[in-house]
Amino acid sequence: MNFERIKEKLSILADAAKYDVSCSSSGSKRTNTNKGLGDSSGMGICHSYTEDGRCVSLLKILLTNHCIFDCAYCVSRKNNDIKRAAFKIQEVVDLTINFYRRNYIEGLFLSSGIFHNPDYTMERLVSVAKKLRLEENFNGYIHLKSIPGCSDELMREAGLYADRLSINIEIPTVSGLKLLAPEKDHKDFIKPMEKVKNEIIQYKAEKKIIKNTPVYAPAGQSTQMIVGATGESDKDIMYSAVHYYSTYNMKRVYYSGYVPVLEDNRLPALGTEVPMLRENRLYQTDWLLRFYGFDVRELLNQNHPNLDIDIDPKLSWALRNMHMFPVDVNTADKQLLARIPGLGMKSVHKIINARKYRRLNWENLKAIGIAMSRAKYFMVCNSSDFESRDLEPERIKSMILQSSQSKYQKFYNQQLSLFN
Ligand code: SF4
Repeated sequence: MNFERIKEKLSILADAAKYDVSCSSSGSKRTNTNKGLGDSSGMGICHSYTEDGRCVSLLKILLTNHCIFDCAYCVSRKNNDIKRAAFKIQEVVDLTINFYRRNYIEGLFLSSGIFHNPDYTMERLVSVAKKLRLEENFNGYIHLKSIPGCSDELMREAGLYADRLSINIEIPTVSGLKLLAPEKDHKDFIKPMEKVKNEIIQYKAEKKIIKNTPVYAPAGQSTQMIVGATGESDKDIMYSAVHYYSTYNMKRVYYSGYVPVLEDNRLPALGTEVPMLRENRLYQTDWLLRFYGFDVRELLNQNHPNLDIDIDPKLSWALRNMHMFPVDVNTADKQLLARIPGLGMKSVHKIINARKYRRLNWENLKAIGIAMSRAKYFMVCNSSDFESRDLEPERIKSMILQSSQSKYQKFYNQQLSLFN
């Protein structure tokens, strides 16, 4: 093996893979069998995230950054003058096993540019996973990227070896895709999603009847959307996300702030800031939809098509709906408690539990660990030492931001200074 060449390939193909954020390793229950190598369940996977929420515990590489397509937003696009490289199937297998044995990684995230055609590429991705599972007896986590336009048969096979499959929709709207990737067909993204959804349902149903039916993509499927490459509003992005969650049973939709690396008059100019705050607000919105019982139309609609950057989406919603507050924490149901800014679901459960024994006052709520600087404007309890009823939403917002240690305070202060 030529180690220098492998090192060079690794540096090129790991760098090219960094724009893909859809690599969370949660959700798989694959266990080590037959004295195999690795275990993606429980302690077998170390969930390691960077500060902005990106998973770093997997060997994350492209099989190749050669590509026959020329998507404007992609660093691997055909007409971009960059160093190209391609791994052989066995090289990826060996790297994964060696890195796993050295405890550097917990699994593999493998994507690829499209070389020759979608089937040729997908077949090679599947071969890596198949070799790892069948020849190396590898039970660690494998996330395979599905190649748009590949055959149903390859998608079926992929799910038998991978824990998670993902196909990145990349541009949230059909019109945006047409503008930036005119050679691609929206249907080529949808078809594999539909296939994976149906296979998961079918394999689960068969397993109930025939116990030794293999599991199919046990960690489900995910997708990623680029934020800020085209002019979509947050409403457009989140309505698309809701569609993918509900229609294709997505486990996760990831949002990736566009990093301007290419000169192209269809894209934001080089040097434009990566919209990290916007990306963060989209993740918070996604969380509110999946775990807090919000409907997307409450958070984003015709009158409010974009999320506030300076405050989180729940606080923003509460300030627009002051008629719902204050909520009495001693009597409100779970859904209503979950809508109080500053209360996470853990706090909601603690409140429900604690109020079985006493009527809660401010001291009790502080002891539970509630972020009172935000929550106190939106609730009442068995204390009378705080009155918020006559405050205007703008006043509440300003008081919260002034008292907050939030990283967004700087942003807000800058905004205020514009009016001084
Ligand atoms: S097909 Fe994929 S790898 Fe190729 S240019 Fe488009 S986004 Fe990049």
